[in-house]
Amino acid sequence: MRYTPTKIICIGRNFAAHARELGNEVPERPLLFLKPPSSLVGSGASIVLPPESQRVEHEAEIALVIGERARHVPEADALRIVAGYAPLNDVTARDLQRTDGQWTRAKGFDTFCPMGPMVPAMEVDWRELEVVCRVNGEERQRGRGGEMIFGIPVLISTISRIMTLEPGDIIATGTPAGVGPLRPGDEVEVELVGWSIVRNAVVNAPIR
Ligand code: MG
Repeated sequence: MRYTPTKIICIGRNFAAHARELGNEVPERPLLFLKPPSSLVGSGASIVLPPESQRVEHEAEIALVIGERARHVPEADALRIVAGYAPLNDVTARDLQRTDGQWTRAKGFDTFCPMGPMVPAMEVDWRELEVVCRVNGEERQRGRGGEMIFGIPVLISTISRIMTLEPGDIIATGTPAGVGPLRPGDEVEVELVGWSIVRNAVVNAPIR
């Protein structure tokens, strides 16, 4: 673990094909939720499957890291506060997400937020960034920044009208279609194609 952000803000249903695959409507405005900073791990850490869930799934996402304190950011200025981009796996206990009615438990277990090394923002155009998920080397998800329903400037502007963004805060921008289960012994990787990879083994929680 490299650092602790004050918050990890996530976007639900930001790719139309993913909203449809889970039987959901496309939202009229960005759908926000939080993951706890305690869920964050780096590449090489294990994703620990909790005994409370029978169905844990990968969600490959383009994440961004905030570079400066900001509030009420206009869309036109939003990219100025982005320090960089990173691959992120929004690991989700899908069964608990369905039964709980809100997502704190489903999204919040320790190790449920692997994130890879950051690519400096000035090096890339977010619309061209492509995120891919592979499980045991087999491709499961692929999406591009430009395919998001709500693009990164809209997300930053929307979120910064609700809460102050602090340096190091993380925004996970939503997953493309193709989410699926993770099983003990799997190796899952999320790549910002050509830039950065987060790779994690999947293990069962030890019996306590
Ligand atoms: Mg997600």
